[in-house]
Amino acid sequence: MKKIITIIKGDGIGPEIVTEAMKVINTIGKRYHHEFIFQEIAAGGNAIDQYGTSLPKESLEKCLNCDSVLLGAVGGPKWDHVDPSIRPEKALLTIRSEMGLYANLRPAKLFPQLADASPLKESIVSEGIDFVVVRELIGGVYFGKRSTITENDELIARDEMSYSEHEIKRIAKIAFETARKRGKNVISVDKANVLDTSRLWRKIMEQVAKDYPDVNYNNMLVDNAAMQIVKCPSQFDVIVTENMFGDILSDEASMITGSIGMIPSSSLGDGTRGMYEPIHGSAPDIAGQNIANPIGTILSAAMMMKYSFDMAEESEAIEKAVHTVLNEGYRTTDIMSFGKTKVSCSEMGDLIIKYL
Ligand code: NAD
Repeated sequence: MKKIITIIKGDGIGPEIVTEAMKVINTIGKRYHHEFIFQEIAAGGNAIDQYGTSLPKESLEKCLNCDSVLLGAVGGPKWDHVDPSIRPEKALLTIRSEMGLYANLRPAKLFPQLADASPLKESIVSEGIDFVVVRELIGGVYFGKRSTITENDELIARDEMSYSEHEIKRIAKIAFETARKRGKNVISVDKANVLDTSRLWRKIMEQVAKDYPDVNYNNMLVDNAAMQIVKCPSQFDVIVTENMFGDILSDEASMITGSIGMIPSSSLGDGTRGMYEPIHGSAPDIAGQNIANPIGTILSAAMMMKYSFDMAEESEAIEKAVHTVLNEGYRTTDIMSFGKTKVSCSEMGDLIIKYL
């Protein structure tokens, strides 16, 4: 197969971790006789420096004309005070929305080799953590109208949150289809005791659930979900929720698995094309030192193979190689523990390739 992958190395540790993922993709290409063509684009802070905008037109066009996008991370203190219209994150919001990527899938999976790194008690962790948060990505309050006005001599800020039936229906289908490939259990998270958007969310979720009689379905209020994720994470298989709740809960979910550097994510729409990225940011505090953990990005490449390229075997080969490297005791600084062998970002990439 021939696949064109748009590469956004981005800022901070982005170039270091994406380079390792590209090495892994190239190795898969050779082993399985696929042709992967990389087209690298500028986006984020580095694009602001070069072009005065975080997403040049040509960069967006390349995202719209490829088979999938692989992203490191964008942003950093250098661009914290630029005009909001060109902020580094704006580039990602525009790419997601222009590519129609409305579903963000974030696996929260505890690697048994890293159980010590979880902040949860051993008695909770030993039950296992393996669920996916399916977050609606291009609707809700992050995309609503916003304004700050002055009334009676004080500032008033407003953010509008809205959801339409079709936006809820399409994310519901992704959640149920994902559950069918996993543990057949969906929990929809909302705040239906307070919000109108949540009441509509629940109504549509319950309608779609009827089309999936083989999948067990329940609702949960978001405040309870935040508690249950730390109290009994083993009860979850697929959590589906709206944009802002998903943003918060998926960060909580990733934290209980140990390291932010290990977790991949995918953003999908109606077609097979997606955007794949680790869940962490550009980690400016460790950038340029070759100590970042590239595993989240490498596993994002594995997700790309599975969800966008229909290459399940290739995807599993990458996941297996990651497990072997961890079993052999190799660790980057962020997941290092007593008695293990500390390796750099590029050494971790090389080891994963060695065990592929
Ligand atoms: P961060 O995720 O970049 O870093 C948080 C902590 O985790 C830091 O101590 C960092 O060193 C560590 N860390 C993160 N990734 C790591 C890895 N792969 N290996 C080892 N350690 C790792 O979050 P932050 O510091 O809040 O944000 C830094 C910048 O990243 C900000 O400008 C923010 O806006 C941006 N950001 C970008 C994205 C994205 O591009 N998708 C997402 C989140 C944050």
